[in-house]
Amino acid sequence: MKTNLVQIPVSKLVDGFVYNEHEGKGLFGLSGQLTIQPEYQRNYIYADGKRDVAVIRSILAGYPLGLLYFTKMADDKFEVLDGQQRITSIGRFVTGKFAIFDENDTPHVFSGLPKDQQDKIMNATLLVYECEGTETEIKQWFETINIAGVPLNQQELRNAIYSGPFVTAAKAEFSNSQNANVNKWGAYIKGVVNRQEFLERALEWVSDGDIGGYMSTHRHDDNINELKTYFNTVIDWVSGTFSMVEKEMQGLEWGRLYKEYHGQSYDPSKVTAAVERLYGDPYVHNRKGVFEYVLGGEVDAKLLQVRMFDEATRNAVYKQQTEAAKEKDESNCPLCAVGSDSNITKIWTLADMDADHVTAWSKGGATDADNCQMLCKTHNRAKGNR
Ligand SMILES: [Zn+2]
Repeated sequence: MKTNLVQIPVSKLVDGFVYNEHEGKGLFGLSGQLTIQPEYQRNYIYADGKRDVAVIRSILAGYPLGLLYFTKMADDKFEVLDGQQRITSIGRFVTGKFAIFDENDTPHVFSGLPKDQQDKIMNATLLVYECEGTETEIKQWFETINIAGVPLNQQELRNAIYSGPFVTAAKAEFSNSQNANVNKWGAYIKGVVNRQEFLERALEWVSDGDIGGYMSTHRHDDNINELKTYFNTVIDWVSGTFSMVEKEMQGLEWGRLYKEYHGQSYDPSKVTAAVERLYGDPYVHNRKGVFEYVLGGEVDAKLLQVRMFDEATRNAVYKQQTEAAKEKDESNCPLCAVGSDSNITKIWTLADMDADHVTAWSKGGATDADNCQMLCKTHNRAKGNR
């Protein structure tokens, strides 16, 4: 791995700058020698009137912009490894794509700035590390330099590491905000399309979590058929099983749920009724758990975090149960009391007991004193499903 530290003035960097508004990418600079947005780089995300403006303000104030990293591809060919957002911000500003504001809130585009400020920007120098090395070395660099500006997320990093025809095709499908399906997918997937979070889910599902392994295997594929088919199968299964779109459905582990439950058949109208009933149940704390609970046949109430008995109820039931037990000289755990071991007369402390629904919550039992009994921890655990 060879590195070479150079200083490049802004004027040289933005010479021949091209910004593609449609793709949201800064494309070229440095008189055509520099590819700003290689295939694997994320899209330009600084165009928010804050981060892009901050870059220009930093230059005008004389602050350093941090190191930029270029990969040397040939003698006069470079690609930006890190710094694409900053370079694109500068390029867009000097080509009049956005304005900065002075203390009176008056907007100024580059061409409207006083000459001395224009010169200050154009003459500012940026520190650039030119890197030359093998793919492995560059991969390691990429992981180490993941520092400046908005850090690359895991999937952006993987796209860089496994760049090639597969990543290109996958991004065209899953990282493309123009794709008409994005709205539909967004009901089930959390994240931002151009930060590769939809692509990441698609890869996670098809690869059973081994995204890196899958991308490595398919790196040179010229199609994404398997990825696309699997993803659509999961989405179709979710939307076919659950007719409703609730905000809690977004970001659930649909890949895992598909694997676990797609072999079972469901009656959509019963599923809908169950989800509606559980959404209306004030004891259900975790609405995200409703969908898996229904898929699993409404057995695993832990998924719902059903509201527990409060302290006052537990104290009152304990007191009443214990007094009655002492009178009859039997255990205050009703299940111990009918057992056959030495615990048959044991009086447990409150700390050694747990509250239990006499009629299980899932069978319609309420979470109130009338439906509460204290059991020793062993018996409560054995009873399981509350
Ligand atoms: Zn017991």
